[in-house]
Amino acid sequence: MAPSSSHTWTPGSWRALPSVQQPSWPDAEELKRVEAQLAALPPLVFAGEARSLERSLAAVSRGEAFLLQAGDCAESFAESSADQIRDKLKVILQMAITLTYASGVPVVKVGRIAGQFAKPRSNPTETVEGEVLDVFRGHMVNDEAPTKEARRADPARLLAAYNQSVATLNLLRAFTKGGFADLSQVHAWNMEFAASSGEGQRYEAIAREIERALRFMAACGIDLDAEGSLHHVDFFTSHEALILPYEEALTRKDSLTGDYYDCSAHMLWIGDRTRQLDHAHVEFLAGVKNPIGIKVGPSATPEEVVVLCDRLDPEKTPGRLTLITRFGAGKVAEHLPALIDAVSAAGHPVIWACDPMHANTFTSSSGKKTRNFDDIVREVSEFFDVHRQKGTWPGGLHIELTGDDVTECLGGADEISEGDLFENYTTTCDPRLNARQSLDLAFRVAEFLRA
Ligand code: PEP
Ligand code: MN
Repeated sequence: MAPSSSHTWTPGSWRALPSVQQPSWPDAEELKRVEAQLAALPPLVFAGEARSLERSLAAVSRGEAFLLQAGDCAESFAESSADQIRDKLKVILQMAITLTYASGVPVVKVGRIAGQFAKPRSNPTETVEGEVLDVFRGHMVNDEAPTKEARRADPARLLAAYNQSVATLNLLRAFTKGGFADLSQVHAWNMEFAASSGEGQRYEAIAREIERALRFMAACGIDLDAEGSLHHVDFFTSHEALILPYEEALTRKDSLTGDYYDCSAHMLWIGDRTRQLDHAHVEFLAGVKNPIGIKVGPSATPEEVVVLCDRLDPEKTPGRLTLITRFGAGKVAEHLPALIDAVSAAGHPVIWACDPMHANTFTSSSGKKTRNFDDIVREVSEFFDVHRQKGTWPGGLHIELTGDDVTECLGGADEISEGDLFENYTTTCDPRLNARQSLDLAFRVAEFLRA
């Protein structure tokens, strides 16, 4: 049974409940020490920023804006260079400007970044060359190398994840507020390896139009320097709130409102594997005021989803909840309509977002985990169709991408084939779209939005 709404929530009240997908930490004392250290460190984000995101998301829930949530499946301790962070940001900015320009709809930008270090897994162990090993759970927990030592859950990694998140967020703030995201830089966001492709050229055409429009406005006497929104971008962070000791340690009481916020990121989401009503993850997130996402896969019933909404957003606050559906290409029409009916009837002002990645993963004949670009586009297209039929707003897109020139997903304009998967496959978890595929997707989604 779900705890009644009258019980007392505290940042640690989840501890009394069962939780799945948690590593078994061999050294409980060391975990406690690390939690205390984290609790004494500064928050990564401030409550006021989370409230500002909630206001932007409220506009999405009203059908006045679109949510683009994108970034790595699993951030890596080995990939933290300034170039890698900048390139990921570039792709997201390019996608956002493409969507905005082509559809006329403002885009709320949320990265899966600066904290996306923990992964839910299908099996707790795996067998490598006859040896049974704990599964890799993300760099916040262990390392992907297939040895017993590497797979040991190490609390020191929570601190390392915090530190890398701080450094990443610091650079993101510099890039988005310090001139790099200035609209006059639209050309600079195009990356060399993408610029020569068809999508890259289509993007260049938009960039040229934007520059012309800026010159036109300046010629008309409009003071562009004074127009702040042309020079900096609001970019928010998010990750799956999976490792609860970490999330609890970064939860702080806002001195202005007295409310609790999980200050590890602006937005947190609950994964499809951890959304049990009477379990720890739902309990924890019910008590923090950040905008919350819930991944909703084919096993979720409409009744369950409504109870989740009641529990996580009893006040029905626009912008608080985003339902991120991930059913798989060909399965959206089977699952989504009943969900929309139930949630609408219950009066929850949720944002509907589509994750076309996680139910379209398969293992290719060569043994690599991959996704087909066409399946991804098809799931988004079906998502738009169902919302159009229901009269609800298809409010967002949730995807896994990287700014690196990887070959992890099949297809797209440069037709990555199964043989190509071996060329540059660097993900530590799920296959990501590269910049060309991401831009290609943005152009398709812009067409759906315009229609
Ligand atoms: C993810 O977003 O990386 C993920 C594991 O998704 P889901 O919970 O939807 O499977
Ligand atoms: Mn993933």
